[in-house]
Amino acid sequence: MSELFYTKKHVSDLLSDEEKKVSDAYCEDYKDFLNHAKDEREAVCTAIALAEAKGFRPYIAGDPIAPGDKLYRSVRGKSLFLAVVGKAPLSMGANIAAAHVDSPRLDLKQIPLYEDNGMAMFKTHYYGGVKKFQWVTIPLALHGVVVKMDGTVVPVAIGEEENDPIFVITDLLPHLGKDQVKKTLGEAFSGENLNLTISSLPSGGEEDKDRFKLTVLNYLKEHYDISEEDFLSAELHAVPAYKAKDVGFDRSMIASYGHDDRSCAYAELRAILDINGPEKTAVCVLADKEEVGSDGVSGMQSSAFETFMEDLCDAQNCKLRHCLEKSFCLSADVCNAFDPNYPEVSEKRNAAEFNKGMGILKFTGHGGKSGSSDASAEIVAKLRGLFAKAGVIWQMAELGKVDQGGGGTVAKYMANRNIDTIDAGVPVLSMHAPYELVAKYDCYMTYKGVKAIYDEK
Ligand code: MN
Ligand code: MN
Repeated sequence: MSELFYTKKHVSDLLSDEEKKVSDAYCEDYKDFLNHAKDEREAVCTAIALAEAKGFRPYIAGDPIAPGDKLYRSVRGKSLFLAVVGKAPLSMGANIAAAHVDSPRLDLKQIPLYEDNGMAMFKTHYYGGVKKFQWVTIPLALHGVVVKMDGTVVPVAIGEEENDPIFVITDLLPHLGKDQVKKTLGEAFSGENLNLTISSLPSGGEEDKDRFKLTVLNYLKEHYDISEEDFLSAELHAVPAYKAKDVGFDRSMIASYGHDDRSCAYAELRAILDINGPEKTAVCVLADKEEVGSDGVSGMQSSAFETFMEDLCDAQNCKLRHCLEKSFCLSADVCNAFDPNYPEVSEKRNAAEFNKGMGILKFTGHGGKSGSSDASAEIVAKLRGLFAKAGVIWQMAELGKVDQGGGGTVAKYMANRNIDTIDAGVPVLSMHAPYELVAKYDCYMTYKGVKAIYDEK
């Protein structure tokens, strides 16, 4: 075929058998990460453990730094920065990859516990963009922390072990769904109805009040030494109790909760753990709060990022603004893959497809690219060059056809800092659903893509 044509390639046509094995091994590690990182705190903890095993140490402002140093800083245990100091000074810029480690879920309210007609329940307030009907009648696990008045942090994780109980939210039987089925999808399931069923046995004697609540409180006292008041200062999340699993006769895909955005978070993490002696300083950001707008101290809009980068710059007597101006950021977040069941929402020529590699989005946003930082042609060209050299298979992607909807990532918050930024990541099906789907080769290519950027000469 004429070299004048551009055609997307299928990863399996280009990858050697040897590298296919490397990809499979990478995906086994990724599944393990998924199963240990069901919320941002667990993701940060798991990432720190993996990083420390590779020689990373916490960075304290004022400490000297030298090329090759492996450093990290946790932001309140909910987001994480890792860096490998480059041979070139920070005045030459850093190569940054920024993913997020929070995912849509159901958070418990601050006064969650109540009983009603012989059942104890938890009230929830959903976090991020969920389609509410997807969260009823599925196994849910409870993750998070309860922080007691004296500051003691009590970690909670129930529903992951084989013999753990799980929790569910009920739905109406079809026999009595006459009115429900007439409503729109958005109206048929209300946020205030997403109440977790947690207990159905009474405690105490018949004369006692709130006996079903008491059963729960007795359990929590015995196992966690907490009382009802302690919920006031708790962050507990109901997340799907599913494990990551291979999908398909060819085992070419992975279904899991939280591919958005742990598929990219893990790619970045593995890439920074695997590099040695980069030319430019490599920075890996695992941010929190992306699903609710990147606000707050642990979100990408927080100056915690500047603080970390400025501390590194100070160690080299370089100005932060000069470093950022010369830096590059890959906003590593998932994009939507073309869904054969819903072809009407995508424009085929520009939609990402499974197994065609890492997806690059020049722009995101909605309705005429609104709210997008829209990377420059120069940046796209730079990536083309880097990826061609490193054997990274990638594809251009678009978040749905024109005027179909849209979305955003942390990209604009990085670009607004005067950092050249572009979106890239793993194409996902059923994004934000309790069980999302990705293709293994795309996960592996995203790792290779981030690594190629860190390895830039
Ligand atoms: Mn995302
Ligand atoms: Mn998302």
